Amino acid sequence: MRTAKSIAVDGVEVSVVRKRVRRVNLRVRQDGSVVVSAPARVPLAQIEEFVLSHRQWIAKARSRALAREEARREGLRDGGRTRLLGQELPIRVVADLPRRRSPRAEVEGDALLVHVAQDAVSTDTDPAGTPAPDPQQAIAQLIGTAVEELRRRELEALLPAMFERYEPLMGVHASEWRLRRMTSRWGSCNVRTGRITLNTELAAHPVASIQSVVVHELCHLLEPSHNVRFHALMDRYYPAWREAKRELDAAPQARPRP
Ligand SMILES: [Zn+2]
Repeated sequence: MRTAKSIAVDGVEVSVVRKRVRRVNLRVRQDGSVVVSAPARVPLAQIEEFVLSHRQWIAKARSRALAREEARREGLRDGGRTRLLGQELPIRVVADLPRRRSPRAEVEGDALLVHVAQDAVSTDTDPAGTPAPDPQQAIAQLIGTAVEELRRRELEALLPAMFERYEPLMGVHASEWRLRRMTSRWGSCNVRTGRITLNTELAAHPVASIQSVVVHELCHLLEPSHNVRFHALMDRYYPAWREAKRELDAAPQARPRP
C-alpha cells in the first residue's frame, strides 16, 4: 500500500491509495482525514470523478467524525470520564513519569489513572521560542493515546478465551483476529481468509457486548449475510445478542454496526 497522490475537494485533501481491492472505496477516518483506495487499473481521472460525486457524503461524514472526536476529547482531561468494559471511570492525570516517557493508563480502584511524563504538562516555551501547544489539547491527546492502549490491552486479555470458548462450540476457526480503531463498524469478518477484525472501541462496552460481536463475526464463517439463517445461528449460540445490540446501539458517541 502506498499513497500515490491526493485529490483536493472543498478544501479537504483526499489521499489516494493504490491497493489490492476490487473497487474504489472512500473512507473517512476518526480524525476527519479522508482516504480513497482503488485498484491499480483504475485511472486517476475516474477516481477523481468518484470522489467528486461523493462530496456531500464526505462533508457529512467528516463533520460527524470531527464532532465525535471533539466530544471524546472533551472527556479526556483530568477530572473527565471515560468508559472501560461498561464501567464509567473518572480520569485522574498524574505527572510522575520521566521526561518524554509515553503515557500509560491503569485502573486503580474506581478511577482511571493516567500517568504522563513530568514535562508533558509544562506550558513553557522551548529555548527556540516555539510556543507550547495548547496544553489542554496536548493532555487530551496523551490521555487518548493511553486510553486507546489500555483498551487494546484489555481486549487482548479478554479475546483469546472468547474465541477458545466459541470456536469449538460453533465448529469454526478464525485464521486470525486483530484489533483496529474503526469508525463505522464493531467488527468485520473476511469470509474468504477467515480473518476477523474487531474495533478497539468495543473495550468501552460490557463483556457481554464484546462477546456478542465475537460470536457475530464467527457466525459469518457459517453464514456470510445477515439473513434468517444468520439470526437463527445467533439465537442458538448467543441468545442474548439482541440485548447486546441494544447496548452497543445506545453508545453515546460512535454507533458502528457489526
Ligand atoms: Zn455482520
